[in-house]
Amino acid sequence: MTIEFSERIERVTPSATVAISNAASELEAEGVDVVDLSVGEPDFPTPENVIEAGKDAIDAGHTGYAPSPGVPELREAIAEKLRADDLDYGSENVLVTPGGKQALYELFQTLVDDGDEVVVLDPAWVSYEAMTKLAGGSLSRVDLAPHDFALEPALEDLAETVSDDTSLLVVNSPSNPTGSVYSDVALEGVRDLAVEHDITVISDEIYKEITYGTEATSLGSLAGMGERTITLNGFSKAYSMTGWRLGYFAGPEEVVDQAGKLHSHSVTCATHFVQYAGIEALRNTDEAVTEMRDAFEQRRDLLCDRFAEHGIDVPEPDGAFYLMLPVGEGGDDEDDQEWCERAIEEAHVATVPGSAFGTPGYARLSYAASAERLEEAVDRLAENGLL
Ligand code: PMP
Ligand code: GLU
Repeated sequence: MTIEFSERIERVTPSATVAISNAASELEAEGVDVVDLSVGEPDFPTPENVIEAGKDAIDAGHTGYAPSPGVPELREAIAEKLRADDLDYGSENVLVTPGGKQALYELFQTLVDDGDEVVVLDPAWVSYEAMTKLAGGSLSRVDLAPHDFALEPALEDLAETVSDDTSLLVVNSPSNPTGSVYSDVALEGVRDLAVEHDITVISDEIYKEITYGTEATSLGSLAGMGERTITLNGFSKAYSMTGWRLGYFAGPEEVVDQAGKLHSHSVTCATHFVQYAGIEALRNTDEAVTEMRDAFEQRRDLLCDRFAEHGIDVPEPDGAFYLMLPVGEGGDDEDDQEWCERAIEEAHVATVPGSAFGTPGYARLSYAASAERLEEAVDRLAENGLL
């Protein structure tokens, strides 16, 4: 028999970041020593006290369903954290999800109708496009590449792109894949446009805790933005908890109610005992978070210095743990895909083509790897004529 697939699922391809990471793992299983700089995953263990809190929660019997929107104590701890970031949220504004990705998926399904316009800032994380397509929306992209990935100089382009017909704008600062942290002036420009055209905004702040010498302002804290911003965050990056699958969004209560319907019909709730680990992560990990951030900063410096030695000027990221390495000559689609293929096949260094993020001519490197492995990656790329 022929299985008929939905037109909806045929619109999307698998996540490039996840697919390349899987390919790297397969090569490793064959015995190849791969330096995997593809997936954005901290290489540190989850802080010990968080692990203990998770184990204690299992021992305490938190192994049944949790309340669908999240364990009340966690929702309150999240609201407390957000209030410290000048965001005016209570626990009723928070929905806890299995990973930030699920929160985003639920939001796109809740906010975007067939034909609705969704605006992203390119290069943009791979899953925004897929989630837009799954919801039936149409994507408009504003390219930050000509401005070294800064948003402020691109505000005019953004102004030309958005209109009263725009349904949703997605802002991700610090950005995956560029590491850019958008200035307050840039965010105020976004605010003005969102208010003028009555646009709902998702502020994806999953890398907020990982910045170097600067801070990422929460978009929802700007005057006029509270009522139209949904703040997205999770535990994967700051607390090195990717495999625990815990994230959340916070926004107007009606968004929690509407998205909560999909949440209750799909995942029901985030894993019950994991939510107790989340409470511990929010309350007692300041030192561990700072140590990881400091390590990422040293690695950023190391990579930028090593590429400079090879005459490659990389726009220096102020946050997250990614950088965009310019590759190839023409900057066309095939250049970066071909470069990344050669990098993994010949140098055994896994990276993600910029074109997966809407911006050809670059490769995204995740520097959530040890200094030694990063040195090894640069050496291998150079030896194979890729730098
Ligand atoms: N937003 C961005 C920009 C990301 O890079 C990621 C990475 N996975 C997520 C959201 C979701 O992360 P998670 O599902 O692990 O919380
Ligand atoms: N967000 C990370 C990345 O971009 C993890 C993989 C994914 O969810 O895309 O590599």
